Amino acid sequence: MNSPDPLVDEPSSTRHGLKVALLATPFLLAALALSPIASRALPAVPQVSGLFGLVVGSSELLTAFLLASIAAGHRPRWLVRLTCAYLFSGAMALLHALTFPGAMLPAGSVLGTTETVAWLYVTWQVGFSGLLLLSASTAVREYSRGMPSSGGSLRVAVPATLVGTFVAFAAARWMPWPAYFAPGGTGFGLWAKVGGGATIALSLVTTVVVWRHRRICSRLVVWLALVAAVTGAGFALGLVGGARYSAGWYASRALVAAGSAMVLIVLLHELLRSRRALRTAAARLGEQAQALQAEVHRRERAERMFVQAQKLEAVGQLAGGVAHDFNNLLQVMRLRLELLRRQAPPESQPHVAILRDTVGRAERLTSHLLSLTGRRSLTPEVLDVGTWLPRHAKVLSALVRDDVRIEIDVDPDVGRVHVDGGELEAALLNLVSNARDAMPSGGRVVVSAKARPPSDGDAAIVFTVSDEGEGIEPEVLDRLGEPFFTTKEPGKGTGLGLAQVHALARRSGGSVTIESRPGAGTAVSIVLPRARAASPDAPASGTPGRAEPAAGRGALIMIVDDNAEVGRATGALLEQAGYTVTLVESAREALERLAAGTRPRAVVSDVVMGGGMDGIALARRMRERHPELPVILCTGYSASSDQARDEGFTVLAKPYEAQSLEAALRAALDGGRVAAEAQPH
Ligand code: ADP
Ligand code: MG
Repeated sequence: MNSPDPLVDEPSSTRHGLKVALLATPFLLAALALSPIASRALPAVPQVSGLFGLVVGSSELLTAFLLASIAAGHRPRWLVRLTCAYLFSGAMALLHALTFPGAMLPAGSVLGTTETVAWLYVTWQVGFSGLLLLSASTAVREYSRGMPSSGGSLRVAVPATLVGTFVAFAAARWMPWPAYFAPGGTGFGLWAKVGGGATIALSLVTTVVVWRHRRICSRLVVWLALVAAVTGAGFALGLVGGARYSAGWYASRALVAAGSAMVLIVLLHELLRSRRALRTAAARLGEQAQALQAEVHRRERAERMFVQAQKLEAVGQLAGGVAHDFNNLLQVMRLRLELLRRQAPPESQPHVAILRDTVGRAERLTSHLLSLTGRRSLTPEVLDVGTWLPRHAKVLSALVRDDVRIEIDVDPDVGRVHVDGGELEAALLNLVSNARDAMPSGGRVVVSAKARPPSDGDAAIVFTVSDEGEGIEPEVLDRLGEPFFTTKEPGKGTGLGLAQVHALARRSGGSVTIESRPGAGTAVSIVLPRARAASPDAPASGTPGRAEPAAGRGALIMIVDDNAEVGRATGALLEQAGYTVTLVESAREALERLAAGTRPRAVVSDVVMGGGMDGIALARRMRERHPELPVILCTGYSASSDQARDEGFTVLAKPYEAQSLEAALRAALDGGRVAAEAQPH
């Protein structure tokens, strides 16, 4: 494939054409101005010819070399011919200096005779302008067909040119020319005139051809028009002057030398220009490569996040499905255990306590899985961090070994946050246990809560757990928060800790930042928006107390649950607490019972139930038909609990404590009685 070369492929513009014309003008004007005095004889300085030959020779050989070095790989034919023209001209110029009598040596020439130089000069000029025309016309032909071909090869052309040069020299040097052709003879004069005329004619044709096609040709070709014009003008001046050492003779050499030097300068200038262009292009390419790399990184990150989201979704679906059934089982156990606790003799109480703890752990596991994926129903409350955090210091310190010191750093007036307290506690426990694991040989863990300075954004409270542990390697840092990502041995890590922390922050409108220096420690911060005021409905936190005597003893409570086990356990608990209970297994059945005249004092209903109608729909229907009837909804799902709460229903998050149900029922019956009493009979 051909890669473009600015020097060969960049077309000449109008501006460039003007520049060339402007540069040619002084040469042509000088030639014109000198023509009236061209024949004036001046002192003979043969060294001028030596100097002329050397300057032109070296300049044209260098030009040939530069031309040969550009566009390697896809050299168009015209460029090869141009290179040969310059190679020929350069070699002939040097031979001219070597053969001109008195040019290099005080007397005579280095090579050849007086005849040699005369013949050589004319051959040189005719040959050069002829090759120039050949190259120019090839260029015009190639460019008018579109891009120039890449069929040119120097491998044949250069040796052929050198052979041609040698033949021209040999002919001039060794040919036994008859006297007719000797310098001063008529034949020679004729040759000089015809050669001179041909040079002028060829140069003129070249100039015209190139100039006419300058818009299609490359800049380099257009420069040829200038060279040809200057060479032609120089020759015309020489021809007008005629004799050696005339003003025209000197001026012609000066013009040709200047023209040849100018081509070299132009070529160097163009080469530097294309080098600059190349550099700019390389720099741009570098920038683009960088941008591309950044884009690749961005995409990789997005892809990782997508995979993470998919994993979360899959885990969530699994967890959601399992948790529903699991919560029902746990609910039964919890309620039955509570009954057992109330009835069992004192010596059995320790066993019950252990069972209750175990059920609690199982519940935490389920809720952990659910909260990771945003499916656990959160119970946000307004926590006064200044008092909340010190209260939980004991739980946090229970987690660490003796060689780990734990410090709590909190200002009592730090402020409040609106968050699920249990989840926040779980998050801090996760962070502290990570800190502990990061310090196998002990150290200090600081748990702090600070108000974020207002300059850093909205009012927020930043919980930070920092350790002096081994830190986190950058490649691990990228993956933190991915569920199930752990660097710990099997059995030691689940890879769910930071995922829970992230999920909590996300669901509470906050964020997580992790700063770590390998070998120096880690600080993980949870930033939570600051709450303005204390929540009016903040539940009293504390250990579940003993069951208090039920309000409305003997009152009929309707329990709606499609899981018969849960329904029976709930019923047993409430009966034990002194209520009368009626069990139904679907929302429709509940409505039918009401329609048939059953009059419960309150309804406790599951939310997610089969049978085409869920607990929320049932509660709505009851609110319409029996506005005085309190409904308590129970659910393990976040979405449904949020919705039910939004509609103003009392919601218990499953699995709930027996005491929570009793308390909710008491509150509902009290409210109901007030409402009932307020109604006129
Ligand atoms: P687990 O603790 O079960 O491995 P986490 O989600 O809590 O899962 O943590 C994930 C990983 O993050 C850990 O395995 C550990 O490599 C790294 N990590 C978390 N916290 C720290 C910490 N404080 N210091 C060093 N590495 C940590
Ligand atoms: Mg952990």
